[in-house]
Amino acid sequence: MRVRSPWVWNAFVLAVVLGFAVLEGLALADPEGLSLSQWYVDIAQAWPPIKTLLGIVIGILICHFGWWWVPRQMRERCATCGREVLKNPHGG
Ligand SMILES: [Zn+2]
Repeated sequence: MRVRSPWVWNAFVLAVVLGFAVLEGLALADPEGLSLSQWYVDIAQAWPPIKTLLGIVIGILICHFGWWWVPRQMRERCATCGREVLKNPHGG
């Protein structure tokens, strides 16, 4: 399977959001339902380091998604090996 369209990721995010909405809705409609928040609180009480670990993971993801990278305009495909490489800024 090739992942080339942004709609694959749009659909993925939508599925996560819808999945959360359905599960949270079911949990809140049930007096004994387990919401995402309660689930996390239970886990954090049982194992407090999860809070720090989750913070690190979220921080890494924010850096990963927001980090400067080489834009497509500055890359080209190597004629020899086919890999994407930095364009020579001096042309040649
Ligand atoms: Zn090459």
